Amino acid sequence: MNNTLVLVVEDDVPVMNLMTTTLKTHEYRFLTAKSGTEAIMLASSHNPDVVFLDLGLPDIDGLEVIKRIRSWSNMPIIVISARSEDSDKIEALDLGADDYLTKPFSVEELLARLRVTVRRLSIMTASNDSALYINGKLKIDYSAMCAYIGDEELKLTPIEYKLLCLLAKNTGKVLTHTFITQNVWGRVSESDVASLRVFMVTLRKKLESSGDRNQYIQTHVGIGYRMLRVDEQ
Ligand code: CA
Repeated sequence: MNNTLVLVVEDDVPVMNLMTTTLKTHEYRFLTAKSGTEAIMLASSHNPDVVFLDLGLPDIDGLEVIKRIRSWSNMPIIVISARSEDSDKIEALDLGADDYLTKPFSVEELLARLRVTVRRLSIMTASNDSALYINGKLKIDYSAMCAYIGDEELKLTPIEYKLLCLLAKNTGKVLTHTFITQNVWGRVSESDVASLRVFMVTLRKKLESSGDRNQYIQTHVGIGYRMLRVDEQ
């Protein structure tokens, strides 16, 4: 039996059934809610480890549910969006959601998102105040403000270093362009988003230049970036 408790918020019965059957098969514990009000109630009374949240709910909007939960908890929220436009996903991520799934999704995708999130939780608990970040061959020494691939120090500009730390501190979480530019430059404008792209290209090149074939940074086109947890070699 898996210890992870998942709250599934979904008013569409076939989708709900697909999700609960999958969770049951993989021995996750779960709770279900068909409305936003019920979701908020269960989230506060049961403190689940992960929430799968449909954005289109019959009573209150899913975005409102995120706002309410975030007012007291940082529990991971994976948004389920039926709309193909990026705008509501971006809004959900900016309100504090951790990740997203777009309908229709496969059982494999659902499980993959869940694994990434559960893993991120265990890392967060394990390395809470650690001065050292280790992910595959990537190492960040926060106190010395240096980053390494293996034993080789990366020659990063201050902005690249800031970007890398922000992504590392949120490993597993999708960060929107707005969130990143706000944290790195303290403001958001079209030109900041454009320069963010340029900085990400150079940062990636530096991460890859050592011959390390791990892909650390994932691009979410039109949305943002995510630091992936790479398996230790
Ligand atoms: Ca719905």
